[in-house]
Amino acid sequence: MGEKIIIAIDGFSSTGKSTIAKLLAKKYNYIYVDTGAMYRAVTLFAKQNNFVGKDFLDKKGLVSSLKEISLSFQFNIELGFAEMFLNGKNVEKEIRTLEVSQLVSKVAAVSEVRKKLVAEQKIMGEDSGIVMDGRDIGTVVFPNAELKLFMTASADKRATRRYKELIDRGDKVDFKDILFNVEERDRIDSTREDSPLVKADDAIEFDNSDMGIKEQFDRICALVDRRIV
Ligand code: C5P
Repeated sequence: MGEKIIIAIDGFSSTGKSTIAKLLAKKYNYIYVDTGAMYRAVTLFAKQNNFVGKDFLDKKGLVSSLKEISLSFQFNIELGFAEMFLNGKNVEKEIRTLEVSQLVSKVAAVSEVRKKLVAEQKIMGEDSGIVMDGRDIGTVVFPNAELKLFMTASADKRATRRYKELIDRGDKVDFKDILFNVEERDRIDSTREDSPLVKADDAIEFDNSDMGIKEQFDRICALVDRRIV
């Protein structure tokens, strides 16, 4: 096989970015980095230390405590992907709750938070052979990525997927809250000042509202294969 590349996957909330990213990483033997998990872990830290809540954000307090946050990914062989650790503790389950989803976009809009996480993400990509998903990967983290994808789908389809995920893992949630959260996060992520969610000019757009995983994956693999030969 040819040279290893960087694959950047951006897009709206719950568009199945991580599903595709994990499959790609497995097929090409690449490292997968879920940057959303990093913003979620910082949000969990902020929540635990009372820097963020439903109606407030103590930006100053959070920024001055950023140096106390240490993030790492540890590969779980049974699950087949890396889990998020915050200061040495596995927080994979805690960061996926609706409560964290409701606070994360507020925290992710803080420039100092972005600066810290983007610097860590750039280091992870120093050796190519990486697939990274998020909101600013093709625009800010790896503007020179060899392949950039931008995923979209209708809000209803996306909320349905996320609702199913949460119900399957035993969380008690209302569909209307999930739909509201998906739309609200997209609004905040797309309108923030620092690194808003936008499609990079050279990204390939994928609307997967009516596309199964297999069809999407086959199409995307064809794009990857063209880049690495
Ligand atoms: O990908 P996921 O839905 O887990 O991301 C959670 C949130 O983290 C997003 O809604 C966004 O606010 C933030 N995020 C970001 N930049 C990234 C990845 C995620 O701002 N690269």
